Amino acid sequence: MWHSLETTGTWQGQLNNRRSDGVVYPEEMTINKIEDDHNVINYVGVFHDISSRKQTEKKLKLLANNDTLTGLMNRRRFIEKVEKYIGQINDVAMDNSPPSVCSLLFIDLDDFKIFNDLYGHDFGDKVLQKVANILRTTVCEHSVICRYGGDEYAVLIKEQDVNYAQRIANQLVNIISQPLKCDDIDINLTVSIGISSYPESGTTHQALLKNADYAMYEQKWLGRNGVCVYDQQLQHEYIRKLILRDKLKHAINAQKIIVHYQPIVDNKTGHVCKFEALARWYDDQEGFISPGVFIPIAERYGLIGMLGQLVFEKACADLDRIHRSGFTDVVFSINHSVKEFSQHNQEYIFETINNYNLPYSAIMIEITESTALDDGKNIIDILAAFRARGIAISLDDFGTGYSSLAAIIDIKPDIIKIDRSFIVDIEHSKESQMLVSLVIDLSRKLKVEVVAEGVETQAQLDILSEMACHYIQGFYYSPAVAIDDAITILQVRNK
Ligand code: C2E
Ligand code: CA
Ligand code: CA
Repeated sequence: MWHSLETTGTWQGQLNNRRSDGVVYPEEMTINKIEDDHNVINYVGVFHDISSRKQTEKKLKLLANNDTLTGLMNRRRFIEKVEKYIGQINDVAMDNSPPSVCSLLFIDLDDFKIFNDLYGHDFGDKVLQKVANILRTTVCEHSVICRYGGDEYAVLIKEQDVNYAQRIANQLVNIISQPLKCDDIDINLTVSIGISSYPESGTTHQALLKNADYAMYEQKWLGRNGVCVYDQQLQHEYIRKLILRDKLKHAINAQKIIVHYQPIVDNKTGHVCKFEALARWYDDQEGFISPGVFIPIAERYGLIGMLGQLVFEKACADLDRIHRSGFTDVVFSINHSVKEFSQHNQEYIFETINNYNLPYSAIMIEITESTALDDGKNIIDILAAFRARGIAISLDDFGTGYSSLAAIIDIKPDIIKIDRSFIVDIEHSKESQMLVSLVIDLSRKLKVEVVAEGVETQAQLDILSEMACHYIQGFYYSPAVAIDDAITILQVRNK
């Protein structure tokens, strides 16, 4: 200050001052030197109290770095912290000192949307706060915890390897899955956690974040409520998926995906009244690749829109052939993935049906119950547009999700397909029998028809016939076959 005053005649800065009551406060001060013929005659200081400005700055900083709902660090700040920490470890690693380690957890609540839907957003907020508190009390003190976004959290565990991180993650999974009381309501919450560790899963902050996220998604696919570590095996699978993704893209563009058709038999008449269109992929090097493998890849990597459109196009062309062969009552049931609704405009469905001059009523769209849950309204509107034209909706894999009844109410399907898992043990399991007969009774009341999927034996067929199940699909009659064979089946069965 003195130096500046001597040389420039002025000084400006911030300092802490003490009020007469003893309270220290921040002030901003400007001092000017007053001279008369080069003699200093005075110094004049002008100051003002900047406590409130300081407080606002602090608040803004808090807002910029923290999540207001949970008080945890926000995503932006967290990424900065991880970047800085990894930078430090990498510097140390270059010094030839013993290598440091750290781990990242990515935590995502399973089906969180249900709480918002059932009890409202305020309740959802409270659940998010509860989880934040569980994180605070479970992870060790110098870990960095953040709310990564929506219902996602992330934790940086410093100086601890993957084994330690796995222990903590398992603890979290256990604690969170205990019944949790929120506003006097008992809720059952589960989480999926992905772990990446330095240096095994990556040596940059980007790689660690990406791989923990990938492991978390993997856990979602594996059935949620658990922990998945990004290890070598996962890395191999990841690379394999990327290879398949590229091959699949190629196959779609080259129209190498073909469609087979599985008969659905009317149990009263014994006639084939519908076929389910099922995508088939034969790769020259890999051989036959199951849709159970490539459909999830298509969904994950944004290819499902193109794939769905290709299948739809081929199915309409083939249905046209069937109708021209004289079987004009035959309906095609075509699978439609939840992801297709979000990745693609649905207009092509109407256009394709019109191009082949097919009646809308000859097409049925199969969706799964998770469709109803997936970001709601938009899909329900699209389904309503299908229905308005006369395209029927069928609810696939019924009974496997958490919300089968809700799905019936939201989607109002024309047909319910009881999942194969209930048919497979229907001879021996009283529970399966009960469920199937309940669904058939309920559907009769709701004027919805029922297809039993995966019927393989005469005994299963007999039980289902006794329950007056409307339609039968399964290897008992036929697997999915090429279009020529489908026509032969019609010629034999529907004489
Ligand atoms: P899904 O829709 O539940 O289709 C029925 C699956 O069960 C088919 O397997 C079918 O071959 C098999 N299946 C039918 N009857 C029997 C039986 O009696 N016993 C046994 N063990 N299995 C039977 P696939 O063709 O492997 O398809 C698997 C899944 O892939 C389908 O399940 C469907 O979710 C999906 N998928 C297939 N094609 C398409 C498509 O074009 N688009 C979309 N979005 N998904 C598709
Ligand atoms: Ca299906
Ligand atoms: Ca099914």
